[in-house]
Amino acid sequence: MLSVGLFCSAVEGLSPSFRTAANIFGSECARRGWRLVYGGGRRGLMGEAARAAMAAGGKVIGVMPHFLAAPEVANHDITELRMVDTLAQRKEVMCTLSDAFVCLPGGVGTLDELLEMITMFDLQLHRKPTFLCSIDKFWEPLRALLDTFEAKGVLRPSLQDSYQIVPDVPSVMAALGALPAR
Ligand code: AMP
Repeated sequence: MLSVGLFCSAVEGLSPSFRTAANIFGSECARRGWRLVYGGGRRGLMGEAARAAMAAGGKVIGVMPHFLAAPEVANHDITELRMVDTLAQRKEVMCTLSDAFVCLPGGVGTLDELLEMITMFDLQLHRKPTFLCSIDKFWEPLRALLDTFEAKGVLRPSLQDSYQIVPDVPSVMAALGALPAR
């Protein structure tokens, strides 16, 4: 069973295109029998994806630091909710439990998580790819930043292998489906 780590916004009331993407991503993972690993909250796109995956009969593991259980509303209606102490532990557990990572739109938390995953790939601490799902071109500013860094010569060429920016959920599903069996 493929296990997919999801990083995305915990903010409520985002645009319908973001919420729809999270919903379809969750249900499509479940339909394919893929396990969803995410931050364990009910709020924002995180909650949306988890609810959709559970409603479609999928397996969902949440990884939540104790201090976020109240503000981000810990989701006990999932297959398993693992409580940890720190954000660093959350990232470590999510990384261990996942075969690949998907980023939907999100803020600084999502950015921190995705940069850690691609940085660790670049340093060969894992070999798990990250797919940035660029709904409404959300990740274009990050692409521009990384392109600038590349032009200035500060990136190792191997970083290119760590991530891929794709336009929508069907492209993410296709990319995940094409991964070699783990
Ligand atoms: P955000 O993308 O900011 O909505 O955050 C997504 C998830 O990451 C939420 O569970 C946030 O609480 C968490 N988060 C927020 N800031 C950070 C950070 N600096 N490092 C790691 N996770 C964070």
